[in-house]
Amino acid sequence: MIYKNYINGKWISSSSGKTFKNINPANPTQILGKFQDSNKNDVDKAVQAAESAYESWSSLPAAKRGDILYRAAHLLKENKERLARIMTLEMGKVLKESRGDVQEAIDITEYMAGEGRRLLGHTTPSELTDKFCLTIRMPVGVFGLITPWNFPAAIPAWKIMPALICGNTIVFKPASDTPQSAIELVKILIRAGVPKGVLNLVTGSGQGVGRPMIKHDQIQGISFTGSKQVGEFVMQNAGLKKVGLELGGKNAIIIMDDADLKLALDGVIWGAFGTTGQRCTAASRIIIHKKIKPKFEKMLVKATKKLKLGPGIKSSTDVGPLINEKAVEKVHHYTHIGINEGAKLLTGGKIPKKKGFYYEPTIFTDVSWNMKIAQEEIFGPSLSIIPVKDIDEAIHVCNSTPYGLSSAIYTKSLRNAFLAIEKIQAGLTYVNSSTIGSEIHLPFGGVKGTGHGREAGIEGIDEFSEIKTVYFDFSGKLQKAQGIK
Ligand code: NAD
Repeated sequence: MIYKNYINGKWISSSSGKTFKNINPANPTQILGKFQDSNKNDVDKAVQAAESAYESWSSLPAAKRGDILYRAAHLLKENKERLARIMTLEMGKVLKESRGDVQEAIDITEYMAGEGRRLLGHTTPSELTDKFCLTIRMPVGVFGLITPWNFPAAIPAWKIMPALICGNTIVFKPASDTPQSAIELVKILIRAGVPKGVLNLVTGSGQGVGRPMIKHDQIQGISFTGSKQVGEFVMQNAGLKKVGLELGGKNAIIIMDDADLKLALDGVIWGAFGTTGQRCTAASRIIIHKKIKPKFEKMLVKATKKLKLGPGIKSSTDVGPLINEKAVEKVHHYTHIGINEGAKLLTGGKIPKKKGFYYEPTIFTDVSWNMKIAQEEIFGPSLSIIPVKDIDEAIHVCNSTPYGLSSAIYTKSLRNAFLAIEKIQAGLTYVNSSTIGSEIHLPFGGVKGTGHGREAGIEGIDEFSEIKTVYFDFSGKLQKAQGIK
């Protein structure tokens, strides 16, 4: 099957005449479809369409835009199982997680539909008499959305829904490893009634499609989720566009000596090996009090060895494949780095002899905070255990990477918990649960090398709207602020 771009209300081929293949990472000989390998011409056409549609879409009352999103949420619900299966086939995660991914898309769609009747500004008194002050929200214009493959429905929905409700029009470029989930999401929005030109989809590579979007003069905003390296490129090349960046992480779970170790174990297994470690919020470092380290390591290795690797579509599978062959090579490369750096390999570290892009869940211990495996994002099932002597050292180590997305602490002490909440440099801190599990009505994002901006929640609206300040003077005379007579 050959899939096309969606531009100005029509499914059309790329002007390059080229396509690329999408394969099943659990069975790489299975080709799931061919997709348009687009270029700058296609981006130009999509931007043109988005610009033409802008006036009427942004003038439509937000509540009416919300009605379309409510219909989209309903259609997503009806199609949840089908979409989850498509997702598992094209990116490998276990089916129950794919269902969660689609559910997240449903939740954000409903939440943003409701924003159609809020989109709140605020009012405040003027310093002068007979003068009224308020703020209103305006759309930004044509928005370029560039997304990764690890949340093929949720991340595009986190961007598309607030962008639409705020009145922007869109050029959307999904990751090349998950174009089919993106097409399914766009089809649902079309069925829900999004008018032609408002949402345009262009598939293709980062160089061929993403790059011209970032540099495009007629795109006013870029919302990017992906790696730190590409995020830096976006920042350097987007000019004066409004830019939102959701980048990588090197997230840690702190386990103190008073922690409930069984609870911590469940959190570590889920955080480190859920989605095969391919979440921006995955736990890739365990910072543990040295008193409980030997006991916890035994529990962790035992539980990790029980995890079943296999195709995500099989209900018996705990850990699915990695996204592609390059990812397997990358994780394996970091295993060699860890060994050469002097860390102790507790389990895993091998590429299983199995069809598909699998990697054994891997645990290193006696890792020091500054080793590469404790500093760089591996984005796979690879976990480093770092021993510490107290809460101060734990927080210091937690903050020692260039990233700042998620963090967690297991402790029964209020003091430890509040120190973590106050001192950890991250956009998210969980107390007594894992580094993953965000809910769509709360803001999500990071600090430092994880980028800036917040998605989801009310704050998610800020990224896709501009604030206008309005001064309404009904005094009938020229009044000057700051007491000027
Ligand atoms: P990536 O940076 O390689 O690609 C992301 C997107 O950017 C893709 O659509 C890709 O085609 C495009 N792209 C690549 N080069 C480009 C260029 N020069 N110009 C414009 N676009 C370009 O990331 P990935 O491998 O798809 O995703 C994994 C990364 O995403 C990890 O670092 C992960 O932590 C991060 N991530 C972050 C969050 C978050 O919310 N903070 C969520 C999910 C994933």
